[in-house]
Amino acid sequence: MDDPVIAGVRIEAGRRTDLELRPARLPSGGWMTIPVVAFRGPRPGPTVWLSAAIHGDEVCGVEIIRQVIGSLTPRKLAGTVLAVPVVNVPGFANGDRYMPDRRDLNRVFPGSRRGSLASRFAHLFMTEIVQRCDVGIDLHTGSDHRRNIPQIRADLTHEPTARLARAFAAPYTLHARLRDGSLREAARRAGAITLLYEAGEAWRFDTEAIRVGVRGVRRVLAHLGTMAFADEEDTDADSVVLESSSWVRSPQSGLARLEVDLGDRVADRQPIGVVADAVGAGARTIRANRTGVIIGRNEAPVVHRGDALVHIGSPAVSSAEPIPAREEGEP
Ligand SMILES: [Zn+2]
Repeated sequence: MDDPVIAGVRIEAGRRTDLELRPARLPSGGWMTIPVVAFRGPRPGPTVWLSAAIHGDEVCGVEIIRQVIGSLTPRKLAGTVLAVPVVNVPGFANGDRYMPDRRDLNRVFPGSRRGSLASRFAHLFMTEIVQRCDVGIDLHTGSDHRRNIPQIRADLTHEPTARLARAFAAPYTLHARLRDGSLREAARRAGAITLLYEAGEAWRFDTEAIRVGVRGVRRVLAHLGTMAFADEEDTDADSVVLESSSWVRSPQSGLARLEVDLGDRVADRQPIGVVADAVGAGARTIRANRTGVIIGRNEAPVVHRGDALVHIGSPAVSSAEPIPAREEGEP
């Protein structure tokens, strides 16, 4: 079989190949480049991509990929790993979630060759990376001052996806429908199984989020037979499966004082904090809107009425209650 070629670069077996994708030119003339590190083993196996910073301010995943890259030995690999630590390169350089054209890159997939800047990035990523892959892991963090407990979000009704989610074994696994325009949806259409890892907060390193992410990615690679890791013997670790989730929104504008943290269990209607104005007047109790576990939390105290405060996930449908529609889309 001929060696695969990505962006004009031959990916030889048994070695690491560093290359760049060139989605567009800078206004000043040089190229914007997306760095890619390809590891191709001497033995056949699946092709897996790892991506982070599709939202430019989500840096935990960049560190996760850096650590995973450091633990891969090309000679020992079966198949190929394509590591893309920063997809939204301009956003990453500016600390910006979005692309310079103000688009959310995770809403424009699969993109088009003749579309907006974001759309061209998405198209290039699809054609050069996703379309050659069997599996992908896309790494995210909370947005807008929200902090997430380490969790996999995946379509758990799709059995191959659910199996990989179990292999990752994040502390929590949330069933999440595919969302239009997301990388996850476009990748599924292209035939790749995709996991989305959500952990930590934008623009910060979160030690636990990074540790769980590195371990989870390596577990998936071990599960796929891509590479064995000496320290991944606990691959059957448990994950709490959450079938649905919703955000508690602020009942009014003011300063929110939350009394629950990530991982806390709450009962429906339980008081979880107070929101009052700057002089403490008009305090209103914030209550849980379901029974479950806190998987996301707003860390910014100044809130407007309707702002998302706390994300609660519920393990299973316990009664005849319908599953409420998720209020939050693809992160
Ligand atoms: Zn994100």
